Amino acid sequence: MLQKPLRVIKNLLGVSPQPTDERSHRFVAVIECALNQNARDTGAACFPDMNFPLLELCHRYGVGILQMPCPEVAALGPGRKRPPGQSLRVAMDSEAGRSTCRALAREVSDTIDAYAARGCELVAVLGGNPLSPGCAVHQGEDGLRAESGVFMQALQTELRRRQCDPAFRGMRDYDPEQLREDLAWLQERLEALASRK
Ligand code: SF4
Repeated sequence: MLQKPLRVIKNLLGVSPQPTDERSHRFVAVIECALNQNARDTGAACFPDMNFPLLELCHRYGVGILQMPCPEVAALGPGRKRPPGQSLRVAMDSEAGRSTCRALAREVSDTIDAYAARGCELVAVLGGNPLSPGCAVHQGEDGLRAESGVFMQALQTELRRRQCDPAFRGMRDYDPEQLREDLAWLQERLEALASRK
């Protein structure tokens, strides 16, 4: 029972020939509000704190979670400040909104690249609900369709530019049945990866 702590101490002291490292080298990239519902617009939070079923699923399969910054907060602030009468979609699909999303997409892609360089595999990008102006995921034949969130589209474009083409899937937590479907989709992928070990 004490073997593992002893091994870790030996590693720290540099007296063990066998470095200990438990990481799975796998991770998903999730939208900020999946782990922090405070990022959501007023009236849009589906949990008090986080999407715990998603967190639990990733933990069960030993997959880390990269939390991406909320594009709406980055572009408009937590209060989604914009001219009276302007929809959030229009605000995010403006030149300024798209530019913020492109900058975030570069930042997130840099982080994903850095993990990839250390042998970590991106399992999937997990976006948001179907009407989210920043993070909706709507699949088309060759990639995300135009009604997808501005940030998700920018991220797919940037990742593809870097020869990285992960699966994108919205975690539709506004509806328990659709969330179950999305979690089942993720679990199937995680099962397939686990059987590859
Ligand atoms: S823009 Fe994306 S990260 Fe921000 S609250 Fe909406 S779905 Fe979540």
